[in-house]
Amino acid sequence: MIRFSGVSKRYATGQDALSRVDFHIDRGEMVFLTGHSGAGKSTLMKLIMLMERPTSGQVVVGGRNTERIRAKQIAHYRRDIGVVFQNHQLLFDRSVFDNIALPLQVAGFQNADIGRRVRAALDKVGLLHKERHNPITLSGGEQQRVGIARAVVNKPALVLADEPTGNLDPELSAEIMNLFRQFNELGMTLVIATHDIDLIERMNRRVLHLEQGRVVSGGGL
Ligand code: ADP
Ligand code: ADP
Repeated sequence: MIRFSGVSKRYATGQDALSRVDFHIDRGEMVFLTGHSGAGKSTLMKLIMLMERPTSGQVVVGGRNTERIRAKQIAHYRRDIGVVFQNHQLLFDRSVFDNIALPLQVAGFQNADIGRRVRAALDKVGLLHKERHNPITLSGGEQQRVGIARAVVNKPALVLADEPTGNLDPELSAEIMNLFRQFNELGMTLVIATHDIDLIERMNRRVLHLEQGRVVSGGGL
């Protein structure tokens, strides 16, 4: 699903964020990405999302060499990748339903299809009864579940989550992880960046560990 070969990223400031990174993640895996702040986790995610380009090396996602994906094709490429953020980035001027419908509207789905898919995603995160609510009225854990429903409503092959439990207490974090596990069981590939060592240990999955821009363990090569 994802293969990095000799990937380095140096920002325009001269800062090296990743140095000759090699790893692969198979389709259907659920992998944690960990390392101290500044280790390169976000940069790695941004290279997968094509928000940044590598300085050298090759990033292959879903069998596509991302080097060959041109600017005009990026929006289409991203439709098959769901993204979950720590601060969930929900829109508070519209309902839960409309927040989740947004990516489908952008992708040009028919209304009937949108309704069916949004409700299926809401059902999966246990929030079907909140579809008409404004997300601002929901708890932090519920808001994060709306963010997850939005990330998976397109049924992407790959989901990237950057510190998805960063603002949540341990019980809610465990709930979110169980959701991710369920999506993984449906065949989604998940990459979850987190500092939460306790959480990682409980999940018992592969851990890709970055230190100062290098993979120090879990690269699977
Ligand atoms: P993490 O997500 O593990 O905290 P990042 O990928 O955000 O790590 O950062 C890796 C390194 O690259 C850090 O030294 C950071 O300061 C630097 N960095 C990140 N983004 C930029 C940028 N846009 N411009 C310059 N340096 C950056
Ligand atoms: P199709 O894409 O073949 O039309 P549906 O959208 O009707 O299929 O969904 C088929 C199955 O997948 C249903 O059991 C539905 O609950 C489930 N499903 C739909 N959307 C999602 C989603 N975003 N995440 C996980 N499961 C979903």
